[in-house]
Amino acid sequence: MGLGLEVRETEPYVSLTFNLKISPFSALLSPYYLCLSPFHPPLPSLAMRPYSLLAPAKINLYLEILGDHVSGGEAPRPDGFHEMVMVLQSVSLVDRIDLRANGSDTVHVYCNHPEVPNDANNLAYRAAMLMIKQFPDCFARYGGVDITIHKQIPVGAGLAGGSSNAAAVLVGLDLLWNLGLTRDELQELGAVLGSDVPFCIAGGTALATGRGEQLDVLPSLDQLYVVLAKYRHLSVSTAWAYQTYRKRFGESYLSRSNDLEQRRQQIHSGPMMNAIAHRDGAKIGQLLRNDLEKVVLPEHPQVLKLREAFQQGNPIGTMMSGSGPTVFALVDSQAQAERLQAQVKQAIADPDLDFWIAKFNPSGIRIVE
Ligand code: ATP
Repeated sequence: MGLGLEVRETEPYVSLTFNLKISPFSALLSPYYLCLSPFHPPLPSLAMRPYSLLAPAKINLYLEILGDHVSGGEAPRPDGFHEMVMVLQSVSLVDRIDLRANGSDTVHVYCNHPEVPNDANNLAYRAAMLMIKQFPDCFARYGGVDITIHKQIPVGAGLAGGSSNAAAVLVGLDLLWNLGLTRDELQELGAVLGSDVPFCIAGGTALATGRGEQLDVLPSLDQLYVVLAKYRHLSVSTAWAYQTYRKRFGESYLSRSNDLEQRRQQIHSGPMMNAIAHRDGAKIGQLLRNDLEKVVLPEHPQVLKLREAFQQGNPIGTMMSGSGPTVFALVDSQAQAERLQAQVKQAIADPDLDFWIAKFNPSGIRIVE
């Protein structure tokens, strides 16, 4: 069976996947042996049942930029990423991803949202291609896949919609191909696709360091509600936000590994971690932080106005998520969320402003039974 990759081999993501070695972990897993073995009979059709997965959005309860991220072994150099400390939280605003073997040798992406690409620029497509590169024998055995994305998470919103879709495809192909990968193994693959993908696989509440791909699980905060708002026709490029931040604040970046470690330790034993450990919603609300607000809010005054309108409603706390422009506010109950939404809607009264009410989600990618 041809791999159906000819056109896409020239895309930049392919160089990423070429660097990924077939890792030893996969060879140790018995389902993978089944895929490799030429003597094993075809797996029962049950293994090829279609899968539907829920891919949650995330918000940043805390986002601090420490400095430039360095990599490269013996002589590490800045690699264009940032050294981060973030607290990430999954919320119940989800995309649904349907995966179905299509009996062909290609991967197709379908999405109900006009701004989501259905080619090699789609992160879900890139996730499928990564799995094909990693497990070519499964692809040869089971063939291509149709990926249908039912988009509810706003696009270019700072809510990691694309990363979460990619995470769902990794989890879904693991199931479809009966691979039996562990969460760590899936997260290792996810880190190749993007810094947020490992978190999106596990979800819940986590402390993310490094580029954002190194995760520590934090206690679940599932009692809080969140109101999200975004101007439909306003998106912020994540790359622009970080580059602008570096231009404006790069001079004060920490660069010595001791200083970086000291700051990480301070945050680790600091008030935000303490509030999360005690599941103290009110305290968490006071301690929200997002360094990227310093570049996005001055550039987009309507986002600042939106944040101020939320503040007027006295939520537990309000902040822009990630690189924006989504603004979120934390409250204690569905009724409070509805009241706050109505209040902000009335204060701004712009038909371009969309709202969502969600709950903190204790997990990441879930299979729809
Ligand atoms: P992050 O918070 O990780 O920076 P984001 O929420 O700001 O992400 P996304 O919604 O993931 O942004 O989309 C960013 C860009 O990625 C979009 O402009 C879109 O063209 C592209 N994209 C690629 N694949 C997807 C996908 N599956 N879903 C949404 N956008 C995608």
